[in-house]
Amino acid sequence: MTTSRSRIGTKLSLVIPMHNEAEVLDMLFARIDDVTGLLGLETEIVCVDDGSTDATLELLEERARTDIRLRVLSLARNFGKEAALTAGLDSTHGDLIVPLDADLQDPPELLIEFVQLWEQGYDVVYGIRSDRASDGVAKRVTANGFYRVFNKLSDFPIPADTGDFRLMDRQVVEALRRLPERNRFNKGLFAWVGFKQIGIPYIRPARAAGNSSWASPALWRLALDGITSFSTAPLRIWTVVGLSAAALAGLAAIALIVRVLILGRDVPGYASLMVVTLFCFAFQMVAFGVMGEYLGRLYQETKGRPIYILRNSQL
Ligand code: UDP
Ligand code: MG
Repeated sequence: MTTSRSRIGTKLSLVIPMHNEAEVLDMLFARIDDVTGLLGLETEIVCVDDGSTDATLELLEERARTDIRLRVLSLARNFGKEAALTAGLDSTHGDLIVPLDADLQDPPELLIEFVQLWEQGYDVVYGIRSDRASDGVAKRVTANGFYRVFNKLSDFPIPADTGDFRLMDRQVVEALRRLPERNRFNKGLFAWVGFKQIGIPYIRPARAAGNSSWASPALWRLALDGITSFSTAPLRIWTVVGLSAAALAGLAAIALIVRVLILGRDVPGYASLMVVTLFCFAFQMVAFGVMGEYLGRLYQETKGRPIYILRNSQL
């Protein structure tokens, strides 16, 4: 079953988080103008200034005076890309919503294909970075490792090498907005809500101008946020560790007792102390694990995610 949709009367919202992007603005808007001209959709552009310290905000406001498609949100300080993106998504009115990096690493031209796939019935069309050559070796290795670890631990795998660059149907954005959690790892949330998704590969170019705002510590934090938001495995693993330790302690106890029976006691008290110590360690681990099980469930509850999300294919 494929739903086909028509772009007639459809409104497009671009959401662009910006932190110190003054240098790329002219290039960015020129490229967006070319693409929106081709698409022929009514368009709004929501730019979120994430506490820039350069002229980004002034330039945006100046542009907004003559460009009625442009709406500028200004965060009171630098809250980080995830927060800026959330602010932007919250204020969109379009039927199709596309988050975009300001630095042109997410080529706007891909929107033509995105919209075609949406017309064929896909609710989410995401870009897959088929070539990360523009990233350094260290970033590629750590990114790769992250996707591996994340997808092992999380119940909701995220496709490797995807970013926030994607087209989403309005109903997907509404679903995202029903997730009240404060610690927002958008890539994970995009996967969690589900819907009919498809990826298309693209070559990710280098940043058009300016510098990346992501320092390594911020990326590590994001990776940790991602894993802890989508997995309670690190809390719950201790039950398994504890039970394994108990099994090993049992074997060690038997070995120690047999040794004493056969060879006699060399150091008095050694076997009994060792056995008690090993079992104490194992029991503590199991106790941690049991607490982890409860804490994990409590954590799931506090996130307050909806129990289900409906997809209305008639829309
Ligand atoms: N960004 C933001 N707030 C930040 C850091 C980045 O809004 O604290 C924006 C930035 O302006 C850009 C996008 O997020 O539009 C991606 O950032 P960047 O290009 O620095 O990241 P990279 O491409 O190196 O992952
Ligand atoms: Mg970039």
